[in-house]
Amino acid sequence: MEEKKSPNEKLQEKFSLDKKSSWLSFDAAEKKKVFAFAEGYKKFIGISKTERLCIANVIKELIKDGFKDIDKLTKVDSGDKIYKNVKDKAVLAAVIGRNMKKWQLIGSHVDSPRLDLKPLPVYEDSGLGMIKTHYYGGVKKYHWVNTPLALHGVAFTKEGKKVFVSIGEKDDEPKFIIPDLLPHLAKNQMERKAPKIVEGEELNILVANIPVDDDKIKEQVKFTVLKYLYETYGLIEEDFACAELELVPANRPMDIGFDKSLLAAYGQDDKVCVYASLKALLELKNPKNTAVGMFVDKEEIGSMGDTGAASLILQNFAHDYVCLTRLSLGVNQLLEVSNAVSADVTAGMNPNYKDVHDSSNASYLGKGVSIEKYGGGGGKYSTHDASAEYMAYIRGILDKEKISWQTGELGKIDIGGGGTIAMFLSKYGMNCLDAGPCILGMHSPCEVVSKADVYSAYLFYKAFFNE
Ligand code: MN
Ligand code: MN
Repeated sequence: MEEKKSPNEKLQEKFSLDKKSSWLSFDAAEKKKVFAFAEGYKKFIGISKTERLCIANVIKELIKDGFKDIDKLTKVDSGDKIYKNVKDKAVLAAVIGRNMKKWQLIGSHVDSPRLDLKPLPVYEDSGLGMIKTHYYGGVKKYHWVNTPLALHGVAFTKEGKKVFVSIGEKDDEPKFIIPDLLPHLAKNQMERKAPKIVEGEELNILVANIPVDDDKIKEQVKFTVLKYLYETYGLIEEDFACAELELVPANRPMDIGFDKSLLAAYGQDDKVCVYASLKALLELKNPKNTAVGMFVDKEEIGSMGDTGAASLILQNFAHDYVCLTRLSLGVNQLLEVSNAVSADVTAGMNPNYKDVHDSSNASYLGKGVSIEKYGGGGGKYSTHDASAEYMAYIRGILDKEKISWQTGELGKIDIGGGGTIAMFLSKYGMNCLDAGPCILGMHSPCEVVSKADVYSAYLFYKAFFNE
């Protein structure tokens, strides 16, 4: 028999916040959609591990859906779909709305922490062919030892031929590895502080062991490595200086848990938001305002550089857009009235390390897309702090579409911090906030999300574009 609720209980229900797992809110049909969406995402992220691969796949999807290269157009109108490729490392794409004078923009980043090859990387030591690396982004360096790695990127020969390199993704292809020190001899190493347990200059990978059988050659294993690269790709040692070669974990995206509710993969920060916002953009039909998807590089090193969000790529795209739509409107006017979402991941509550979070202001796996008013560190430095007005507007969208969502901060005050591209969007005067799934093991070779949150993020991005 159901007990009758007291007046205070009823009142409490009205004004208290009690976010439940979004898994409980899905019916069977919705659950099916959540898992189906995760399958598509798994395929995408498995082939999009570097910024160049990710952008190539984004562009492939855009073209398949009828988006046209902005550089080949002279005029665009409501209903048209356009994109701008920025040096194969960033893309801006738009579905022109009925009202062309306002953008609903979602920005995400395509780069993830990794190991880049040094300009002159090949050497020989102790009978092994080795390659030197320089880590990119915020990594715990000790994650990268004993982890099978794949190599991707581009290089140029002296004759100017562009060579694409990709080794280690297929089962029958070789991988690369940084061997850690055995515990038996690690007494001194274990006394080092964690950031120095593995140091930057110790991130050298194994690439060969067979020496050339020729006494006239000095470094016989290095010879083997260079010969392989020359015969396979036409590359000589100096060509590495004209290359962007990146090592990423060779692992495949995988389901996690008895119930397969979780998904682990490398590079989910921030390719999970890239995929969810791209899918949302591709499914738009005749939106009210122009929907813009922005996929940028270099977020992990502060968004600097010619393909990062701190550059003028958004402004340049807005300029092209205003010219092509023949709007009598300045770029500044367009950007200032627009709304933006910085689609990026945040930290989820990790049961093994709960003390870094304020439990009532943290995100939890499975409780929906995380909406964050601000990020940054210390006294809210290096972030964009969204206005109450904009938060209320976004909550309105979430409520209207019945989308599971939660809110909180990255972690406890003064314990650390992290930035996103939000402040590089809001600098134009547009509204902005951060929204994306929360994640465990962020910046590690194998990050974990809840499939429910990925789906909620996608639903939110779609609803936002449609506003
Ligand atoms: Mn990120
Ligand atoms: Mn990151």
